[in-house]
Amino acid sequence: MKVHEALAWASSFLADHNREAFAAEILMRHVLGDVSRTDMLMRLHDPISEEKYEELEAAVERHVDGEPVQYITGREDFYGRTFSVNEEVLIPRPETEELVEHMLTLISEHFPGEEKVAVADIGTGSGAISVTMALENKDLKVYTVDIAKESIEVARGNARKLGADVEFLHGDLLKPFIDKGIELDVVVSNPPYIPDHEIAVLDTIVKDREPMRALSGGEDGYDFYRRFMDELPLVLKERALVGFEVGAGQGATVASMLKDTFGDAQVYVKYDISGKDRMVFAVIGK
Ligand code: GLN
Repeated sequence: MKVHEALAWASSFLADHNREAFAAEILMRHVLGDVSRTDMLMRLHDPISEEKYEELEAAVERHVDGEPVQYITGREDFYGRTFSVNEEVLIPRPETEELVEHMLTLISEHFPGEEKVAVADIGTGSGAISVTMALENKDLKVYTVDIAKESIEVARGNARKLGADVEFLHGDLLKPFIDKGIELDVVVSNPPYIPDHEIAVLDTIVKDREPMRALSGGEDGYDFYRRFMDELPLVLKERALVGFEVGAGQGATVASMLKDTFGDAQVYVKYDISGKDRMVFAVIGK
């Protein structure tokens, strides 16, 4: 059997089971040794070994059984880099790239030429936000916190592999900074924000496979934002920036929470490329 024949089998098997046929390419690239798409295309007419074909079959079946492709391959791309992921961490989403991009822009506007701008990413997961920010702007002093040690392991592995200088702290939300008396210029977070009634109807490929601690924002979805409003004033410097990812429809509420907490702040909602309110930013004391 040739690579293209195995690929054709995998695509139609996936499509027959209501999965994206495109996943066949990702799984094939993984089975061939995490090769690039171009490398795979160049090998289409090569024979595929029986062993590799069996690996592909097993991978395709896992995906049909409901496992996200990224947990099968152990990888996902974010901001042009490949991050390792496993079931302990949320799979990085493209919407979050927009959060990172805008926060990097805001930092260069508000802290031009400043060194050691103290940035904290709260709820690190795979480390996508913190590692990307540290690599994109070497003037930052990047901290990241997670409540799950398993997730810190994954994020630390990504920082090491990608060469990012990030300080990891284990703890609950902003508590590590409060306890250590570390003051911050910037706080960025993609906290869990899905309300209970949406968790109930979430696609099982997300609900049953990704960590609930990274998804559930409590009954109305705002649990973590409320806690941020209590803790942020304890750690932020007088002039500071805050950037949150939010769920579609939550922008206005999170914006008014920030306005209530920081009377003098400039607060605004940003929409993602699909036109959903997805980010809320606050420029404080400027
Ligand atoms: N964007 C994720 C989803 O829709 C949710 C991430 C989160 O709760 N922060 O599955």
